[in-house]
Amino acid sequence: MYREETARAYAKLIIRTGVNLQKGQLAILNAPIENAEFARMVLEEAYRAGARDVLLRYFDDKASRLRYQYAHEDALTNVPAWKYTPIEEYAKAGAAYICIESDDPDAFFGIDSERLGKGMNAEARAKKPFQRIFDKNEIQWTVVAAAGRDWAKKVFPGVDEQWAIQKLWDAIYHTTRMDTPDPQKAWAEHSASLRQHCDFLNASGITRLHLENSLGTNLEIGLIPGAIWAGGSEKTVGGIEFEANMPTEEVFTAPHREKVNGKVVSTLPLNYQGVLIEDFWFVFRDGLIVEYGARQGKAALDQIFQDENCRRLGEIALVPYDSLVRQAQILFYSTLFDENASCHMALGSAYTSSVAGGEKMSLAEKEQIGLNEAYSHIDFMFGSRDLRITGYTEDGREIPLFRDGNWVSLEKEIFA
Ligand code: ZN
Ligand code: ZN
Repeated sequence: MYREETARAYAKLIIRTGVNLQKGQLAILNAPIENAEFARMVLEEAYRAGARDVLLRYFDDKASRLRYQYAHEDALTNVPAWKYTPIEEYAKAGAAYICIESDDPDAFFGIDSERLGKGMNAEARAKKPFQRIFDKNEIQWTVVAAAGRDWAKKVFPGVDEQWAIQKLWDAIYHTTRMDTPDPQKAWAEHSASLRQHCDFLNASGITRLHLENSLGTNLEIGLIPGAIWAGGSEKTVGGIEFEANMPTEEVFTAPHREKVNGKVVSTLPLNYQGVLIEDFWFVFRDGLIVEYGARQGKAALDQIFQDENCRRLGEIALVPYDSLVRQAQILFYSTLFDENASCHMALGSAYTSSVAGGEKMSLAEKEQIGLNEAYSHIDFMFGSRDLRITGYTEDGREIPLFRDGNWVSLEKEIFA
């Protein structure tokens, strides 16, 4: 099993740094039933931090699987709004939200993809009202991981189960800086560094990026005028700082939905609803994917692209090749981790926070400025050891951002 002392310290990091729970605040804790013991530690740390009360909700992938398998189709597609009312009411009352993930990547493998798709979309729709509260950062929220048995077995196949679980915990602790002498301080420094990169990019006047590597990526990405680069800790509308994801290594913004041209080649597999898509590539013309291929899992891409807006980009994120997560040399089959191992893009929806006032824009207004909206947001990785990224400003200045897969030293750029 995981070491109790470290697990407690990790629970404390989640409450203090992750969600930064305030004295007297309510909290919602969403946790996998398999990790009940760890969830109770997080619960206790929340109360120790002064939580007024915590609404604990367990979820169970295996039970969800049975539901997707057997429930009446009517019930799958008509999710009553009241199913999420308690969370919504708590969120409206100012509760912070903590979600612990330990998903088995194959949890829904073999389930009829149409039933699964319909069911998941219906859940997403029912969740929308409270999701919106967090999307707008009205209150603090954080997504973190705990090692689960099936997830660990997938990441470390063919080894002793207990060993695999311990290895996965170790990887989680390493990538969340739990193995540093003072994790909370390490996070403060890490977050400051990410914000410094954002500040630099936001002040740079870069309107266009050029990406290339030896695998065949050669892509131009036009940014939305005034697009905001974000990364590191976020702030609620009330000014409370929090870490939305642990780990996090990225700074990201929104590409213009019509200004992407060229080819991008993936460097890590993409796990989409239990199907692994490997060695894939996309060719863009005026923002739209006009050609694509994959060595494995192309049918899943066909399915994703049924939503036309999933053929466009919603995110471009820069992550150094030497990031802590990639250094772990593990394919986690979890976006929370894998997207922090590599530069990535997302098919589909952009974050409304990527443009000023984006939360209040209608769909038409978003399209007008080039902010993409879709039913999904699907991240895929393209970072490599030899990746070069260059920024261009409106007045033709050329700013090297990445060389040999990593950030060009900021000191050199800022103080040049
Ligand atoms: Zn990202
Ligand atoms: Zn993303």
